[in-house]
Amino acid sequence: MISLIEIDHFAEEDMFCMFCGAQVLYQESEPVPCPHVFFIATSEAGYEYVSDLVESIMPKGFPDEDEDEDEDEDEDEDEDDKSLLERIQEVNGIPGESFIVMSGGMAPAMLEVYVGFFSGNT
Ligand SMILES: [Zn+2]
Repeated sequence: MISLIEIDHFAEEDMFCMFCGAQVLYQESEPVPCPHVFFIATSEAGYEYVSDLVESIMPKGFPDEDEDEDEDEDEDEDEDDKSLLERIQEVNGIPGESFIVMSGGMAPAMLEVYVGFFSGNT
């Protein structure tokens, strides 16, 4: 289980890598993942970035990637059993130390941003 760190922090604010200090999230522009970021996702749009190193082991989380599961149409409620974030926390095989920082948004938008950091192979 990957640790989840919740910070009291507005989603629009800056975030820096705990390993190398690079700025990862910017208030006014697109995220710029450093080599220690294995994914960036938001509660609204899902993944914004997934590192090539972990892409094959990350859970799929979006309706548009679930198209080949059309036999499970009776799962309107089941889909909410686990959030994308919970499934990511259960991923095994992230190289090195890893943790996820969850940054909550300010009402009324309530956007949450999740950034996964790992020490990786380097
Ligand atoms: Zn870094």
